[in-house]
Amino acid sequence: MIRVNKLGFLVVAGIFWTLSAQAQTAADSTKKTVKKYQARAPKTQPFGGSAFAASKQTTIRWLGFAGFFVNSRGTTFMVDPLLEGFDMPVLIDFPIAPKDVPRLDAVLVTHADNDHFSVPTNQDLKGVTRVYHSTVYVDSLMKNLGLPSVGHDIGDSFKFGPIRVKLTRADHAYQNAYPGMSKRRFRNEDACGFWIETPDGNIWATGDSRLTPSHLTMPTPDAIFFDFSDSEWHFTFDGAVKIANAYPNTPLLLCHWGSVDAPDFNPFNGDPEKLAKAIVNPGRIKVLAPGEPFTLSKLKKSTTK
Ligand SMILES: [Zn+2]
Repeated sequence: MIRVNKLGFLVVAGIFWTLSAQAQTAADSTKKTVKKYQARAPKTQPFGGSAFAASKQTTIRWLGFAGFFVNSRGTTFMVDPLLEGFDMPVLIDFPIAPKDVPRLDAVLVTHADNDHFSVPTNQDLKGVTRVYHSTVYVDSLMKNLGLPSVGHDIGDSFKFGPIRVKLTRADHAYQNAYPGMSKRRFRNEDACGFWIETPDGNIWATGDSRLTPSHLTMPTPDAIFFDFSDSEWHFTFDGAVKIANAYPNTPLLLCHWGSVDAPDFNPFNGDPEKLAKAIVNPGRIKVLAPGEPFTLSKLKKSTTK
């Protein structure tokens, strides 16, 4: 999510700035405001065309923000790619530019917020992307942009190459809670997660969501694209810990953290060190640098539920 909290953040930041500016002027005009600590992603590992080549395995790369690139035995796709043009200051170098992406069999988008559905990125990927998949609502936005897109209901499945994807439930219709924010009445099914089955294991991209019972009763995934933002419209930190501990052996590929310069805006400020102290089996936390490869493998049967 982004819009309302960003506005709230700007208002609060503005008040804070005004007050602190007054205080500073009175006390010491040369003193600088100390910026709140913000966990930052490791240094980007850029990648290029060779990451899209034929392969005998499934390789996952975090793109920064909530984005991932997957090459599964030569079938390539991105989830929520944001590689340019964000409207807040960015802390990372993007690991690849859209113009350097040679081809994508699919782009999957979880919901319409601009940290997940990046209009400039998707427009610049249009020429190399075979098909875009999302919810029915986001599909309508994609069609307005002329993207080759397909909209799906929650629970529906689709395939490309050896990949089978099912839309999982999300609860992220925060817009309705803020009168005047949107003329449109948002529905939970406007946003989704993706359950992604590959030959080398199953990935769960949760999308942004409040915690629901269904998040704790999934089959055991072999990797989770893990959002641990402490935001009331996300899982909250405690809710993210519950998800992590419901699948206690699943690698957690951290996302939605370390990418945006917004120290007072919780949705972008997960801290991996705090997470490591809170969950079962913290060694499975993968603090990937943007672009760093992670090889997916199936969990041993004895460790699954
Ligand atoms: Zn988000």
